[in-house]
Amino acid sequence: MKLNHHFEEISESYLFAEVSRRVQSYRKSHPDHEVISLGIGDVTRPLCTAATQALVKASQEQGTQEGFHGYGPEQGYPFLREAVQSYYGTMGVQVEAEDIFISDGAKSDLGNFLDLFDRENTVLIPDPVYPVYRDTNQMAGRPIRYLNAVRENGFLPMPEEGMEGDIIYLCSPNNPAGVVYTREQLQKWVDFALEHEAIIFFDAAYEGFIRDSSLPRSIFTIPGAEKCAVEFCSFSKLAGFTGLRCGYTVVPHTLVREGMSLRKMWLRRQTTKFNGVPYPVQRAAAAVLTPEGLAQCRESIEVYRQNAALISQTLKECGVWHTGGAHSPYIWLECPGKMDSWEFFDTLLEKADVVGTPGSGFGKNGEGYFRLTGFGTPENTQKAMERFRKVFG
Ligand code: PLP
Repeated sequence: MKLNHHFEEISESYLFAEVSRRVQSYRKSHPDHEVISLGIGDVTRPLCTAATQALVKASQEQGTQEGFHGYGPEQGYPFLREAVQSYYGTMGVQVEAEDIFISDGAKSDLGNFLDLFDRENTVLIPDPVYPVYRDTNQMAGRPIRYLNAVRENGFLPMPEEGMEGDIIYLCSPNNPAGVVYTREQLQKWVDFALEHEAIIFFDAAYEGFIRDSSLPRSIFTIPGAEKCAVEFCSFSKLAGFTGLRCGYTVVPHTLVREGMSLRKMWLRRQTTKFNGVPYPVQRAAAAVLTPEGLAQCRESIEVYRQNAALISQTLKECGVWHTGGAHSPYIWLECPGKMDSWEFFDTLLEKADVVGTPGSGFGKNGEGYFRLTGFGTPENTQKAMERFRKVFG
């Protein structure tokens, strides 16, 4: 019997555990301090009414003979796939309903989709980025090349001369840097992938935060992407479904490698290993995509965006270099006074009672940077920024 020893090569899930350890110990030694967290990547506002009404109705249907739903289609109910298809239509993108796969969130699909690929493929992963891309490939022992995401390229790496890879991860709007690729930049990646017969894993989990219509919310707004990209998306950040769990993955039928259709392979994989998302959750997701549901979700996103705008404004006043926040809940800042990420974490906690996320937790290029989020309440964000001004202004 042999275990997968690649698990020994993965670093401990150290970042949030260490954040929580330090916060707990600080709270213990400062029981009278009110600690505010601007470190969370989770939403805090409740579900919109359209979603909760659909949830209740569908749950009650489940208790009736006529309305009962057992196992659903593994790919998702047609009503939700069609709603997602229409949502893409509003971006001017034509996606076939059969190419849309409903999931329990982007995280699972990002990892599971790797089932379709040989372990010898080389993957290109930005550094810093959402750590799931790195960890899921390390678990499979796949060779990883990191793409430097640094201040000089706006934390958005681009194809370079001599670069080679089979799977390319792109995250836009980006976690952690909060920046967004332009159409021209994404076109360069699509051209690169087509030329190298590579496949782009496009993570659009934060697309709902984009307000500038010239910025791409989907890779499929880029010509040629239907032949080289898979898109992972989610209701988590668009509609606060982090606890409810629903997402979707688009695998175009035009995506073919070595004579094999990736859409067919993914369908085969899902019908074997996945039994679908609960019926009431899919009804709630479809309700989110109605004009009424989307308007309600935008209200919450606006609150987060305003929080992010306030953070950005405060940092500007304090002369702290930062990016992101405009089309994302995340603000990425350079630690003042050339502090390293953990040093700044401790300083911010001790001097302002504010918690953030050390950039070094997202990759080596994140060292010296720090992530703050707009996911707090407006009151707490305001309070935290007043304290920030007092300490760093
Ligand atoms: N992709 C990115 C970039 C994320 O930051 C997150 C969650 O924070 C996810 C995917 C996970 O989304 P889901 O809740 O749909 O699994």
